[in-house]
Amino acid sequence: MGQRKCWEIKTDCLMRDRARENAGCPAYREGRSCWEVDWREVIRFLPASQQEYWYSHMHKCFSCAVYRVHPEEMQARVDEVKSFYLDD
Ligand code: SF4
Repeated sequence: MGQRKCWEIKTDCLMRDRARENAGCPAYREGRSCWEVDWREVIRFLPASQQEYWYSHMHKCFSCAVYRVHPEEMQARVDEVKSFYLDD
């Protein structure tokens, strides 16, 4: 059996069973789990207000079922986004 995707782990994910093309989540749109996405690239060219949204959204990661299953990969993604802001 292959590795479960984040939307399969997080059973209340709002993206589940949606069409991918216009899905609100960039990870789901690309068919990748959130720990496989370089979120710095996702937020780099967004307006500041949307960058703030994603940055604040990140704090939810720690209480997410996906983080419990993939803590090291998820922590690496969170640290990358934090460093993106620190480097700014
Ligand atoms: S990153 Fe979150 S919202 Fe997006 S598909 Fe994964 S679990 Fe759902």
